[in-house]
Amino acid sequence: MKIQLYGVRGSLPDSDQPQKRIITTENLLNEFSKSPIPDAGEFLKSVPNLISGGLGTGTTSIYVKSNNTEDLLIDGGSGIRRLGDEMSSSGRFKAAPIHILMTHFHWDHLIGLPFFSPLYQSEAEIHFHCVQGFSEEALKTVFKKPFFPVPFKMLKSNIKFHTLNPRVVNEINGFNVIPYKLQHPDPCWGFKIEKNGKVYSHCVDNEGDKMSREALGEDLPIYQNVDLCYFDAQYSVSDFFDRPNWGHSTAQIGLEIGMREGIKQMLFAHHDPASTAEQILEMASELEVFYKNKLTQSEEKNLGLKPVKWEYAQEGTVFEL
Ligand SMILES: [Zn+2]
Ligand SMILES: [Zn+2]
Repeated sequence: MKIQLYGVRGSLPDSDQPQKRIITTENLLNEFSKSPIPDAGEFLKSVPNLISGGLGTGTTSIYVKSNNTEDLLIDGGSGIRRLGDEMSSSGRFKAAPIHILMTHFHWDHLIGLPFFSPLYQSEAEIHFHCVQGFSEEALKTVFKKPFFPVPFKMLKSNIKFHTLNPRVVNEINGFNVIPYKLQHPDPCWGFKIEKNGKVYSHCVDNEGDKMSREALGEDLPIYQNVDLCYFDAQYSVSDFFDRPNWGHSTAQIGLEIGMREGIKQMLFAHHDPASTAEQILEMASELEVFYKNKLTQSEEKNLGLKPVKWEYAQEGTVFEL
């Protein structure tokens, strides 16, 4: 199973301002001129990915792929435009039905759908899946005038809507998909996706304030027996405490859950539109201190916390499970 990140921003598509990227580039060129590494390509490999490439602009769009036609898309954030264009140019749109899982219907998870090119192809069959059961109404709203000039009825593809059963296995295009409720207004459902014994857990958007096993209750399994977990880390720790009930979390919460439940790898995502790559790197160095302290505490007090591989998500990255 491959997981490819097409959009990792939260709330609104945004990127560092061009002027800011120029300053970053200038700083990189200065560092390169002083570096003992003679080759520019080799030098870039020595720089953190987030600094050389930025976080990316797109809002939530994740591609889960097992083979050429066994695949799932998660959410229709602005990142889905590029994925749709790739599916159109490769011919994937006519090879087999496309399945899109929707976590919820906040704008940042819908905004790319009018630009998802397979929707306009008569040979495409597209299935939308959600727990909430109102994906048809929500999708038609996106295409209503005066919000968008092309009405829903003009879409040429064959579109179908499905309601998922929560907390049980739903078999979709060769994957086992189990929806669990996240802590988010309106509400939002995360997905635990299993294929060939590997598990991807999608936990965005999520405030994560219910942390204990007791508080998580019937939704705890979304964090158990997981290879890769995509977790909401929109805020720094201080912003998290300033913004109660805004529906987003901080990486420290995810890491603590991951260490307790033995998640193998965590991706921190749904970056605030105002966050720059430099700010995310600062958050990562604070998180590294937190992580090492937790491991030390666990050893001293025999808490049983497990080591977790973690990083902050960057658009375009591919993970293989
Ligand atoms: Zn969101
Ligand atoms: Zn949301």
